Amino acid sequence: MQHDAHGYWLREAGGATPAAPAAGDIDADVVIIGGGYAGMWTAWQLRDRARVVLLEADVCGHGPSGRNGGFCETLWSNLPSLRERFDDERALAAARASSESVRAIGDWCESEGVDAWFRQAGFLMVSTDSSQDAVVDRILAASDREHVVPLDAAGVRARCDSPRFRRGLFVDDDATVQPARLALGLRRRLLERGVTIHERSRVRALRVTGPRSVIAETAGARVRAGAAVLAVNAATRGVRPLRSRLSVTSSHIVLTEPVPDVLEQVRWTGGEAITDGRLFLHYFRTTRDGRILFGWGGGRLAYGARLNGRVEVDPGIAETVRAHLVDMFPALAGRRITHAWGGPIDVSPSHLPQIGTVDDGPVHYAFGFTGNGVGPSHLAGRVLAALALGEGDRTLALVDPAPAVVPPEPLAWVGGMIIRGALLRAERLRAGGQQPDPVTRAVLAAPRALGIHVSR
Ligand SMILES: Cc1cc2nc3c(=O)[nH]c(=O)nc-3n(C[C@H](O)[C@H](O)[C@H](O)COP(=O)(O)OP(=O)(O)OC[C@H]3O[C@@H](n4cnc5c(N)ncnc54)[C@H](O)[C@@H]3O)c2cc1C
Repeated sequence: MQHDAHGYWLREAGGATPAAPAAGDIDADVVIIGGGYAGMWTAWQLRDRARVVLLEADVCGHGPSGRNGGFCETLWSNLPSLRERFDDERALAAARASSESVRAIGDWCESEGVDAWFRQAGFLMVSTDSSQDAVVDRILAASDREHVVPLDAAGVRARCDSPRFRRGLFVDDDATVQPARLALGLRRRLLERGVTIHERSRVRALRVTGPRSVIAETAGARVRAGAAVLAVNAATRGVRPLRSRLSVTSSHIVLTEPVPDVLEQVRWTGGEAITDGRLFLHYFRTTRDGRILFGWGGGRLAYGARLNGRVEVDPGIAETVRAHLVDMFPALAGRRITHAWGGPIDVSPSHLPQIGTVDDGPVHYAFGFTGNGVGPSHLAGRVLAALALGEGDRTLALVDPAPAVVPPEPLAWVGGMIIRGALLRAERLRAGGQQPDPVTRAVLAAPRALGIHVSR
């Protein structure tokens, strides 16, 4: 198993040569900080309407945007949380807009000639124990049958057959991509359209100098702009006015060698993206070259804004993920895992993306995708572009007027690790057909009392 911080996808996509770092005094209408999907889709929306300068600490698309699972999802399975947080109309508007975004990503790949392996084969959520039946039922109860369809055990197993699967739901609108091909394709098209991108240009300070003026400082440059867009994912944890609005965990992926025989055997040849209904969910999909990618969102929590080390690659967690994979698909016992990698997840307390404006000033932000940013970051780009141009539609459900907060450190980390431990214990017991003990159940009830969601 090769542990590689950048994962398999970037190598397959061919990588990118870094653009020149920012230097000297630069003027722009909008400065975008962060060159993942959120920053780049914002730049794409603004490309003909404003002078944009995008500052990226590393190389655009070399963060989680270039190494995720490639689930390009809508927000239909988040409808219970959306409905709980907003009124029905706004919740449905956000879910519909997320479907438009997935479609728009596919159309963009087509019209721009970017082969990002976009495949709209739908999303299957399966339950693997009785508590997950309840998760599936909750989503079905909140949704319409046009977008979310129930599947019984036979219906699930006709699409993919694992001895663990019970029943599930299917979302037709969802897709998969090769994430690095999408990120690097977007980067390439932005450069070709004349958007200024500076890489190896970490922003060290962002100063608000007036109602419509900001200065972003890197080691070698000062960029003055009328508005700033902050799209730095988990690094938002280091940004003072926003740090209490997210916590950072990690997700890990293992990738098998090509296993077309196993895919035939388990009848998984339709390209569906699949998750189970656990909180620390397993997510799995096939690739164009017949591999199975299998991820798990149960990695460790980061302390404060510290993002390196085991948040990026944790060999111990990768081994656990491999064991979970074989448990889900016993036919993979003895087959080779060729790659393993991980990365940070920006978890918002509502499990919904946070998009908005700091103190009604010139700084706009998007973070908190909570492991579902590939599709929704396109939607975020549309909203951020509008906010930066002063045209923001604040009625859009995802612009949350009263976002929930996480406790300060060290409470967040200590509390988070205790809850993580309780969750892992509960999920292990449920997988074996047992119920968690009263103490574990009490610990698991604590987050909700603080207004923090621990489910979709
Ligand atoms: C292992 C893993 C699997 C995942 N699987 C999926 C999946 O299957 N489907 C899904 O929807 N989501 C998935 N996600 C989440 C998804 O990758 C993210 O939600 C999405 O990429 C977020 O895009 P972004 O633009 O916000 O962040 P990023 O891609 O992280 O981009 C932010 C950029 O900001 C830059 N930056 C940070 N600080 C600074 C600074 N001070 N100055 C300048 N630049 C800075 C970083 O270098 C980075 O390039 C996964 C994540 C991981 C880690």
